[in-house]
Amino acid sequence: MTIGTTLPSARELDATDPLAGFTARFIGSNEVVAYLDGNSLGRPLAVTVDRVSEFITGAWGSRLIRSWDEQWMQLPFTLGDRIGRVTLGAAAGQTVVGDSTTVLLYKLIRAAVDARPGRTEIVIDTDNFPTDRYLLEGIAAERGLTLRWIEADPQGGVTAQLVRDAVNEHTALVVLSHIAYRSGYIADVPAITDVIHRCGALVLWDLCHSAGSVPTFLDEWDVDLAVGCSYKYLNGGPGAPAYAYVRSSLQDSLHQPIWGWMGADNVFAMADGFVPASGMRRFLSGTPPVLGMVPMHDMLELIEEVGIAAIREKSLRLTDFVIRWAEANLSEFGVTVGGPRADAERGSHVTLQHPQFEKVTPLLWERDIIPDFRFPNGLRIGLSPLSTSFAEVEIGLENVRDIMRTLPM
Ligand SMILES: *Cc1c(COP(=O)(O)O)cnc(C)c1O
Repeated sequence: MTIGTTLPSARELDATDPLAGFTARFIGSNEVVAYLDGNSLGRPLAVTVDRVSEFITGAWGSRLIRSWDEQWMQLPFTLGDRIGRVTLGAAAGQTVVGDSTTVLLYKLIRAAVDARPGRTEIVIDTDNFPTDRYLLEGIAAERGLTLRWIEADPQGGVTAQLVRDAVNEHTALVVLSHIAYRSGYIADVPAITDVIHRCGALVLWDLCHSAGSVPTFLDEWDVDLAVGCSYKYLNGGPGAPAYAYVRSSLQDSLHQPIWGWMGADNVFAMADGFVPASGMRRFLSGTPPVLGMVPMHDMLELIEEVGIAAIREKSLRLTDFVIRWAEANLSEFGVTVGGPRADAERGSHVTLQHPQFEKVTPLLWERDIIPDFRFPNGLRIGLSPLSTSFAEVEIGLENVRDIMRTLPM
C-alpha cells in the first residue's frame, strides 16, 4: 500500500474488503451516521445481548454464589490468558484482568520502582496520556523519586534515540505508550525495550490504543510489564476492567501495594498476615468486576475468528484512506495530517489538524458524525477495523469538508 497512487472510492474499497461482512455483527445505532470513535468506546456486538442476559439468568441468577467456585475465581486469569493469546502475544499465566487501567498502572508502577531500590528516576514522555503522567507524579512524590521527561514530537512519538538519551544507571522504570493517543504513532517496542534493559531498568508499556487493532508480541519482545484497557478496540463496554501483563520471570519478585484478600496466597484461609499469592494472583486486590468482564468474550471470539493480522491489514487500509482523502479534499482548507504516514508507524487512528477543529467537532456531533477532539487542534478519526466501513468514513469526512466550507477563511 503506497500513499500517492489514485484514491479508490469508498464503495470499491468496501466491495473488495474481505472483512466488510463483519460490520453487520455490531449493534447498529439508530442515530449515528458515522462512528469514528471506536478507539474511545468500541461498539457492542449483537450477540452480547444474549450473553449478558444468559449471564444474569444463569451463572448469576441460577448458580448464584456457587459460580465463584465454578468459574469466577478463575475468570481474571482465564480471560487474561485469552487476551494474551488472541491480541498480546503473551503465553498463558502472565495476564490478569482486574481493576481499571489507572489502578492497574498504579499497582505495577509501584511494584516496579520498589523492585529497583537505590535507583531514583522514572522516565516518561510529556505527550503520554494524562493518567500515566499524573500517576507518575503521585508515585514520585510518594516514593521520593524524580521524574525525567522525554520531550517527544507531538506529531510523532518516542523513539529509541530519545529513550537512550533519557535513561542511565539511576533509572528504575520507563513508562511509555505503544501507540500515542494523539498522533497514533507506534513506538518501536523491541528496540526501546532493549535500550531500557541495557541500563538495568524495567519498562511498562501502555497498550490502550493497540490491543485489538495492532498486534503486539510481548513475550518475543521481552517486555517486562504492560497494561491496557478493554473498552476501546476490545469492545468490553464502558468501564470494562483492564488487564495487566507481567513477564513470568518477574512475577514473584514484584510486590504491588494494594494488599487485599484476593491477592493473598490462600484466599479462603482468612489468615492473620498478608502473604502474596505466587504468579499473577498477587496482582489482584479485592473482588474482581465479573459483570464487567462478560461482554469482552464476544469481541475476543471475533478477533480470534478473523485473526489479528487481517484486522491490522484493514486498519492500515482505513487509515491510509483517511490520510489520502484528507490530502485530496481537505488540504485546501488548511487541514493537515498530524501523525505518521509510514505503515509501520501508524496505529488505528488518524489525527487531522486545523485551528478551528475545536469548533468543528460539536457541529459534526450535531450531524451524528462522531469523531473526537484532542487538544489543541486535533480531530481524531478512530478506525475500529471490524466495525467500520469505508463508506462510513467517507460520509464522515465529507461532512468535515461541508463544515469547513461554511467557516470564514
Ligand atoms: C484510554 C486510556 C487510558 C484510560 O485509563 P482508565 O483508567 O481506563 O480511565 C489510559 N492510558 C491510555 C494511553 C489510554 O488511551
